[in-house]
Amino acid sequence: MFANLFINPFIQLFWLLVLVLFAEIFMFFVTRTLFNNLIMALRHKGLPHPIPDEIKQLSEQMGVKLKEFRVAERFDNAYTNGNDVVIGDLLLQGLKKDELLAVIAHEFAHIKENHLPIRFVSIIPLFLIANASFNHLPSLLQSIAALAYLMVVMIPFNWYLEIRADRLASKYVDASHLSSALTVLNGGRDLKEGSESHPPIRTRIQLLAKNQ
Ligand SMILES: [Zn+2]
Repeated sequence: MFANLFINPFIQLFWLLVLVLFAEIFMFFVTRTLFNNLIMALRHKGLPHPIPDEIKQLSEQMGVKLKEFRVAERFDNAYTNGNDVVIGDLLLQGLKKDELLAVIAHEFAHIKENHLPIRFVSIIPLFLIANASFNHLPSLLQSIAALAYLMVVMIPFNWYLEIRADRLASKYVDASHLSSALTVLNGGRDLKEGSESHPPIRTRIQLLAKNQ
């Protein structure tokens, strides 16, 4: 009876589907943790926009070279690819001018401290270390275990970089503007919920309150 569970072709197909589903969910979280900015850059490229004077001034104050300021349609977030800052039109509509500058200051902080290249470069040695430490496992399991390990390690690292960017931004803009911008950015979602790439908004607001 028990052996039948694995011999029956329908049940084998069921387990195969479960495995594929698990692999997809797993890879979804891995890519979201490791390549969040890359995913956003592919999905929301945006169109170049003249750089507003206030944003130019802010970039000069922060010592950041901004190549392009782009606005992406039907997008409710902001990101940087290391040279450009892209902001979604949906977010733009919901922000006051000071809040927009606060969001830009956060993105400039990522550029100023090279967070994007640091994240990419750190993935390689971390993956190699993880891969070597799981070398007793069969090769497929070894890669899965190494990716899972990498994901677990990268989450607090991603969060740390976000908190650093908030802290640096609040040296150039009022922290209260960044806090209110984060609330707009969060939409109706739970403030206590973090993601693979960002700490919970409530934590970020609490930390920003200390900078005021
Ligand atoms: Zn950020």
